[in-house]
Amino acid sequence: MNEGRFALQAMTPEDLAAAVPPMTVAEARKIVAAVHREDPTDGPLGGVRRIVLAAMRAVASTPTLEIAREEASALDPFQKVALRTADGHLIETVRIPLERAGRFSVCVSSQVGCALGCRFCATGRMGLVRNLEAWEIVEQVRVVRRTLPPGSRVHGVVFQGMGEPMANLDRVLQAIRVMSDPCALAIDARNITVTTSGLPAGIRRLAAEAKKVRLGLSISSARQATRRSLMPIAAAHSVDEVYAACVHHAEITGLSPLWAVTPLAGVNDTEEDAQALAALLQRFVVDTGRRPRLTVVPYNNIGGDDPYLRQSPAEESRFRDRLAVLGTPPKKRYSGGSDIQAACGQLAGREQ
Ligand code: SF4
Repeated sequence: MNEGRFALQAMTPEDLAAAVPPMTVAEARKIVAAVHREDPTDGPLGGVRRIVLAAMRAVASTPTLEIAREEASALDPFQKVALRTADGHLIETVRIPLERAGRFSVCVSSQVGCALGCRFCATGRMGLVRNLEAWEIVEQVRVVRRTLPPGSRVHGVVFQGMGEPMANLDRVLQAIRVMSDPCALAIDARNITVTTSGLPAGIRRLAAEAKKVRLGLSISSARQATRRSLMPIAAAHSVDEVYAACVHHAEITGLSPLWAVTPLAGVNDTEEDAQALAALLQRFVVDTGRRPRLTVVPYNNIGGDDPYLRQSPAEESRFRDRLAVLGTPPKKRYSGGSDIQAACGQLAGREQ
């Protein structure tokens, strides 16, 4: 990024007009639309005064992220991309084909590394290197959009890549404002999901400031001791505290959350875990009138001295069946791209 200049792709029209004083919001809308159509912004632009363009070019630029590595599925249009930041770090972005042809979701990273250190996560082993800037989050979607076949579009975004989005929430919220702005990426905010490992203050702030955005919770286990053994953050924020924040989110937004559990063979997939998860989910239905969408996400080994094992197919179907019998059938998760579905953080890790 050009030193001292702000990144245009992280600005809404209102932000841009405020940052470049002679500019009107109407002019800013034309500039933001041109930036996100990827039209050149170094020449004249209809409806924008020359003096305004000159003032903007003195203080703004449109940086990008370099594609360091791509892994495309041979089975479907699923694709993982490792992107290099200007200061040499690698982050991961995933292009996920949706059921309806021509529609894609983008899984974005919000941090380089992560401080939360979940025991089953490759990114957690890196520790936190730094937060991503809002433009670096938006740019991941733009990079993926450039790879789409003609006639396709980005339908949704999920914050489920590297990093804990609630730990970088100022920039995540700014990125969401830009993604959902009709002049910018024009992605319906209802198709954006922010997934957390359980930071209650962030969940409450998301409810207050992004009411259309869906909440995802990586729950691991509804049993405090088990969750704590897998996710150090659970020592600071108990299952009950995270649950209360999720209830608050549903009450404020009227949205059902997504709850994801990644079963680790013999660790968080026991009968007690299934019962506790089903009970918590049913309590949520009673407390809010909304049913969380429960997904079971198969574990991908993180290599090295990974102490955990993926469930066998028989164990996985037993766990799913048990949840179904308990009245909380998990949804089937998108299962394409299975030939390249390494754990989050591994593609970037391999490329470092
Ligand atoms: S699972 Fe998410 S919150 Fe936990 S260490 Fe990995 S990136 Fe961080």
